[in-house]
Amino acid sequence: MNIQESANSLEKIVALCKRRGFVYQSAEIYGGLNGVYDFGHLGSLIKSNLRQTWIESLQNPYGCVVMFEGALLGPEAVWKASGHVDHFSDPMVDCLNCKRRFRADDPDIAKGCPACGKKDSWTPVRQFNMMFKTEVGAAADGSSIAYLRPETAQSIFINFKNVLSTTRVKIPFGIAQIGKAFRNEITPKQFLFRMREFEQMEMEWFCKGEMALEYFEFWCAHRLNFYRMIGINMNNIRQRPHEKDELAHYSTCCTDVEYKFPFGWKEMEGIAHRGAFDLTQHSTHSGKDLSVFDEETKTSYIPTVVECSVGTDRTFLMVLFDAYDEDVVEGETRVVLRLAPRIAPIKAAILPLTKKQTEAAMCLYADIKKLGYQIEFDESGSIGKRYRRQDEIGTPVCFTYDFDSDNDGSVTARDRDTTKQERIGIDQVPAYIKKMLEK
Ligand SMILES: [Zn+2]
Repeated sequence: MNIQESANSLEKIVALCKRRGFVYQSAEIYGGLNGVYDFGHLGSLIKSNLRQTWIESLQNPYGCVVMFEGALLGPEAVWKASGHVDHFSDPMVDCLNCKRRFRADDPDIAKGCPACGKKDSWTPVRQFNMMFKTEVGAAADGSSIAYLRPETAQSIFINFKNVLSTTRVKIPFGIAQIGKAFRNEITPKQFLFRMREFEQMEMEWFCKGEMALEYFEFWCAHRLNFYRMIGINMNNIRQRPHEKDELAHYSTCCTDVEYKFPFGWKEMEGIAHRGAFDLTQHSTHSGKDLSVFDEETKTSYIPTVVECSVGTDRTFLMVLFDAYDEDVVEGETRVVLRLAPRIAPIKAAILPLTKKQTEAAMCLYADIKKLGYQIEFDESGSIGKRYRRQDEIGTPVCFTYDFDSDNDGSVTARDRDTTKQERIGIDQVPAYIKKMLEK
């Protein structure tokens, strides 16, 4: 099905996520926390597959990419230097009638209050800082102010010297980080698309200033591989270079990777030429020298940064939209997630045709499980119903142990996408899964 044709796709995805435990509203039994979500078994597995693929997608012919995991809390000084304390805000208005708050740049509010419908009843526009502020320790003085990080990048910049002096990397190189970030969005939107607590996968590429534009162009092209690797239909992906007036003041160029959601083209990833702004700021504010020494020219310089920043949760949502399909099998409409095998949460299901085959099928299950694959065993319900359950969570293949299996040493391999079945030797099952994951 073409996603443009199904107006209620977002509702369908939300329903599927809830039904199969991919995603839960956070603190649901207490009424939920708006813009915050929890991920269940299958959702966690998909996210972990996305992270692994993202790390693989950073391999490049020019330099090392080392991993990093920074703290979520940062002292005020960091966010002063980065500009977030003074500038990381959205324009906000309150409805004078119902007191609800909205972003002043939301095109919907021109028509009246989206909550109560009242027209032209707004407070003047104010700036609302999106960082979550907290206090660290018991002292009530200013020294204890901290913020939950609104982006992961700054912890990389402030650790630049530590990484440089302990990992033996040489310019150019990248520092990659996967972790949570927090933004107190005025209006969280579109399920996982705009959340208040979310995960970023970011890589900061450090290079010489004169090479930065070339690397920027390299990463713009190279990053598309990630979307191919996770199985996205590339007709739904485009790159959009920022206009001059969209650029941050320190940035020379920036390109977004966008995905075509039913609610429009939306940003998945930002690739930005950040200049030497970040390291220069932290050098100035901390008083620590963050320059590197160039052996060739015998001079010191502050490296330039090219940043590639993807939202994990958005990517998760994109993957579900792109994979979601409905078709008719044996006169019945089925929901099928056509996930790339490497992203599928469950790689295969082992199914005994009837309870009589349970024991033998269980042996096969245990053997495959030992190889480290995430697989399921399911013996309850009709075989058609069990196939449908696996289709809906994107399991690429089901192996059915049936009446003949004991005699011919074979099982039926049933393909999720085509529903075609073929007979394969039980000893061929591991190779079948391995091959499928290499695609
Ligand atoms: Zn209102």
